[in-house]
Amino acid sequence: MRPSILYPLFAPIDTLSGIGKRYCTLMNNLCGGKVIDLLWHLPSGFVDRRCYVPLAHAVDGKIWTGKVRVIEHLPPKTKKHPYRIAVEDNTDQMILVFFKVFGDSIVKQFPVGAEKIISGKIEIFNGLLQMSHPDYVVDADKPEQMPLIETVYPLTAGVTNKMLNRQITQALERVPNLPEWLDERFVAQNNLPCFKEAVWQAHHPQTLADLEPNAPARRRLAYDELLANQIALAIVRGRLKKQKGRSLANNGALKEKLHTVLPFALTDAQKRVIAEIESDLFSNYRMSRLLQGDVGSGKTIVALMTMLNAVECGYQAAIMAPTEILAQQHAETISALCTQIGVKTALLTSNVKGKARKTLLEELANGNIDILIGTHALFTEDVTFKDLAYAIVDEQHRFGVKQRLSLSQKGNLCDVLVMTATPIPRTLVLTQFGDMEYSKIDALPAGRKPVQTTVMPLSKINNVVEALMRKLQTGTQAYWVCPLVEESEKIDLSAATERFESLQKIFGNAVGLVHGKMKEAEKNAVMEEFKQGKLKLLVSTTVIEVGVNVPNATIMVVEHAERFGLAQLHQLRGRIKRGTEAGSCILMYGYPLSAVSHERLNTMKATEDGFLIAEEDLKLRGGGEVLGTRQSGFSNFKIADLSAHGDLLLTASKDASLLLRQDPNMQSPRGQALRTLLYLFEQDEMIQTYKAG
Ligand code: ADP
Ligand code: MG
Repeated sequence: MRPSILYPLFAPIDTLSGIGKRYCTLMNNLCGGKVIDLLWHLPSGFVDRRCYVPLAHAVDGKIWTGKVRVIEHLPPKTKKHPYRIAVEDNTDQMILVFFKVFGDSIVKQFPVGAEKIISGKIEIFNGLLQMSHPDYVVDADKPEQMPLIETVYPLTAGVTNKMLNRQITQALERVPNLPEWLDERFVAQNNLPCFKEAVWQAHHPQTLADLEPNAPARRRLAYDELLANQIALAIVRGRLKKQKGRSLANNGALKEKLHTVLPFALTDAQKRVIAEIESDLFSNYRMSRLLQGDVGSGKTIVALMTMLNAVECGYQAAIMAPTEILAQQHAETISALCTQIGVKTALLTSNVKGKARKTLLEELANGNIDILIGTHALFTEDVTFKDLAYAIVDEQHRFGVKQRLSLSQKGNLCDVLVMTATPIPRTLVLTQFGDMEYSKIDALPAGRKPVQTTVMPLSKINNVVEALMRKLQTGTQAYWVCPLVEESEKIDLSAATERFESLQKIFGNAVGLVHGKMKEAEKNAVMEEFKQGKLKLLVSTTVIEVGVNVPNATIMVVEHAERFGLAQLHQLRGRIKRGTEAGSCILMYGYPLSAVSHERLNTMKATEDGFLIAEEDLKLRGGGEVLGTRQSGFSNFKIADLSAHGDLLLTASKDASLLLRQDPNMQSPRGQALRTLLYLFEQDEMIQTYKAG
């Protein structure tokens, strides 16, 4: 239950005065429908009215604030003309101009001879100082009513800055005094204001520095938010860990056998992560672990080695891939090895139909099949195992924390491993996968050839085609990747189709085309032809992004590479690292190319380190882009910005673990204060989602 002290902040915004129905809708779209949402709507700037100079020194186009005397009213001759009022100070005169006047309000507001403090933008018109509709007018004996610094907010049509300021002022008045949840020493060392003070300061910038993400007030709020996030994830992680599972401890006979048939020795990195995974599998608790390993780091064999533990114990294991092509590829690798050691595998995709499907499902239910390979659809379909003990989900980093939780609640209480080839920066691992344990394969098998990356303008496309022609004649195969255009698949498709047609004129039947709109079966057929070498050149949209393995394809051309994310380019480039020959990747860009884009492409040229690339991408484009989850499930922070507050996140992560170790039930006074923090940042929801399952 939300603490009652927070009720006023979680009330709908129409509980503030002066908010009508229409305004409510506008505000809802701008920042949200609750009072607290206004507090998280931070300013983007401010108007400084502190500088009082005589009128004679007023500057055209600038805000002027000062005391004036009303000289005379100049009502308009016709309705088309504005109402004007002449005013003066001791140095000059000025005309106030009003295009809209309601009744005699203006006569009352500016009695002749009265002194007023006014503020607004100065214009010089025909050599005369002029101010249209002053922003503020206050009586000369009430200077305190003039807002010397007016906070400026991001706006939307129909919401003025003045209205927003009024509402936020009211919202700020509702912020209660809350018990401090941060460590006092930490607060002192970092010179942080308390929560209430921090929110107030964040909405009252005095200098440009106050608008920076690392201004003390904003840092405090960012830290609060990150801490709430990390505590919530740690609670979920802790509870998952305590869920009963069963031990898959065994004598390792099957694994021994697999070692003898493997054509290579495992790398140290592979051995290490297998040991990490097994420490979970052999325990009595349920595993929920993320395995990260760059493209080509050898995750498939890690998956198989660890699945053999379930088989050895007489249970079943399953591995699920995002597409049928990938599932099929896994099936080929895994079944080739498994038949040699007497382990029964099967592939289940939508292509397995009728009698074959029925038989397969029966064998799965009676336990004849040890390892099932399939697509993610396995999760949702009515597939019954005899006894599934271990499930691996490949390339499913796109699931958000909540999706993953509701998903894992659905399945049996089996151990779960999520594998991903997308290098995920540490900060994102903490925030997006903080509910899971974490392993990383940090080295590639020896002997991998580097990919040579070239960056060149699209205007040189003819040279690229010529070079390609020579290479394809020697038997090499190549990918040609067409870009995302305006995020519309339809336009993507026409770009790829057009390129396919023009390349067909040159390469004839040696060119194939795959794209996202094709039926799975059609796509598979084209991929198969490419795999078998019947096709030499494969034109595609980004559908080949993940996992496809064609060792003979060592060349990749990417059109409009500047439109791709770096992480995405890295994934694409990984496709041509599978062979024995060194690959070459040609990144072609269109004009105009911004300096930042140029720098990004050069990063691709300079390094093949996926993590370095991902960090760079995170800096330039933000987390949703890196994970490829712009539209789905990516939890965005209200205040925190990982590119500026990464250091705070690391501290918050450590603090969260420590706090929960010292006070697991959050009962101490500080624990109680932290509960309030969780509600403040609506992290109670995440814990609820988990509980509900
Ligand atoms: P990914 O991590 O991208 O899924 P894969 O599991 O597909 O990588 O492995 C990529 C390639 O590396 C495969 O051809 C696989 O056989 C090979 N491989 C895996 N582990 C090793 C190793 N320890 N030594 C040599 N080659 C390996
Ligand atoms: Mg893989």
